[in-house]
Amino acid sequence: MLNLDRDVVIVGAGPSGLTAARELKKAGLSVAVLEARDRVGGRTWTDTIDGAMLEIGGQWVSPDQTALMGLLDELGLKMYARYRDGESVYLAPDGSRTRYTGASFPVSETTAAEMDKLTAILDGLAAEIGPEEPWAHPKARELDTISFHHWLRQNSTDEEACNNIGLFIAGGMLTKPAHAFSALQAVLMAASAGSFSNLTDEDFILDKRVIGGMQQVSLLIAAELGDDVVLNSPVRTINWEPAGEGHRVTVESERATVNARFVIMAVPPNLYSRVSYNPPLPRRQHQMHQHQSLGLVIKVHAVYSTPFWREDGLSGTGFGADALVQEVYDNTNHGDTRGTLVGFISDEKADAVFELSAGDRKKKVLESIASFLGDKALDAEVYYESDWGSEEWTRGAYAASYDLGGLHRYGKDQHANVGPIFWSSSDLAAEGYQHVDGAVRMGQATAARIVAANSRVAAVPVA
Ligand SMILES: Cc1cc2nc3c(=O)[nH]c(=O)nc-3n(C[C@H](O)[C@H](O)[C@H](O)COP(=O)(O)OP(=O)(O)OC[C@H]3O[C@@H](n4cnc5c(N)ncnc54)[C@H](O)[C@@H]3O)c2cc1C
Repeated sequence: MLNLDRDVVIVGAGPSGLTAARELKKAGLSVAVLEARDRVGGRTWTDTIDGAMLEIGGQWVSPDQTALMGLLDELGLKMYARYRDGESVYLAPDGSRTRYTGASFPVSETTAAEMDKLTAILDGLAAEIGPEEPWAHPKARELDTISFHHWLRQNSTDEEACNNIGLFIAGGMLTKPAHAFSALQAVLMAASAGSFSNLTDEDFILDKRVIGGMQQVSLLIAAELGDDVVLNSPVRTINWEPAGEGHRVTVESERATVNARFVIMAVPPNLYSRVSYNPPLPRRQHQMHQHQSLGLVIKVHAVYSTPFWREDGLSGTGFGADALVQEVYDNTNHGDTRGTLVGFISDEKADAVFELSAGDRKKKVLESIASFLGDKALDAEVYYESDWGSEEWTRGAYAASYDLGGLHRYGKDQHANVGPIFWSSSDLAAEGYQHVDGAVRMGQATAARIVAANSRVAAVPVA
């Protein structure tokens, strides 16, 4: 058992916790990062499966994600653009397949007009409400007490338009059914990416990837931190008490006991209750954490001897709100001669395919990808399903959102520290919410808050 004395102990070695640790060290504070898993990176994880390098977790970077891009620069990591030449494929509700180019789905004129109308309303709300404090806006309660599903149908009677617009936020981002979260939560998701239109533009939101993989962000920071990162060490208990103008903290994990003055819980909110707090957290926190949950999505990877779809003039991009695999993209690695496709199966569709045997599931999933890109998709050389719902130290994907009514009710308290305990993860971010960029922003902001709090304590003369 390690016994460590540090200024700050950080629970979780994902991008948020590691960014915070790096910033704190830059400011002259000592840190220890305690990580439950045998690796760093959390929901970013680049691994080789059957000879293919796969991004099992987070991977894409969009042009607005400047905090992440700044960090990539500092770490000497380079990016490359996602392959997007050629036609995309749209699967209509009746299963018919249309090849198209440009940003708009090939739908009827009426449906296109309805989609444009819904997009304009959501863009307006995102601009008006913003990502910082959606709970404080005068329309917060009204928008937070109606499900996104019903809000869409309040604004349009066109079912195909509602499902297509719903897909960008429900299956596509929060990975929950549109009846399970509010219109306000949808507006936050849109505002966090700059606008709703940005979320619908795959050339924007899925613009670039990191050469060598997104997990390198965490691996490189962990290498800088050296022995200050302790793996295989789930934190079980946080004890704290007032001491002078500050606090005395003792954090107990599987492999280390750390005495410190501040703690950062850099884990998703659904895992806060895996830790015992002494004294217990306040009522407000106990309640709030029960309203934040992760969505569910299966990220499916299929690797082929060549990117065969390109020869057919296809970009590899496909959308079908009613298809099993609702979105598919070319995910070929930088400089790779093989071709990789990635597809996503969200929420209730994921529940349904998890009822199947692994063999039947693979068959159904590849058939669904083939319905976009042709029968060659059936013959994947490598097939892998990222199943984050089964990961004890995550329990879902991509990130946490509030249930209906939770955002306006609790949001204002989600950043409140409890004595020496601060919260930091992409799930609490404004810009970059649910993304690695948000994790980095939260890590930087939380470190800055602790540096400020530390200087206040240090400035008080010891009596
Ligand atoms: C399949 C998938 C695809 C995604 N795609 C994208 C994408 O393309 N682009 C993008 O920007 N984002 C994407 N994301 C989201 C992105 O990966 C996350 O937002 C980001 O990793 C969150 O970072 P974090 O540090 O806040 O939390 P995490 O990455 O979850 O890190 C938290 C860490 O805390 C550890 N931990 C938990 N409990 C304890 C405990 N009690 N004691 C010690 N350690 C603990 C965990 O093991 C983990 O390492 C994706 C996520 C998934 C799962």
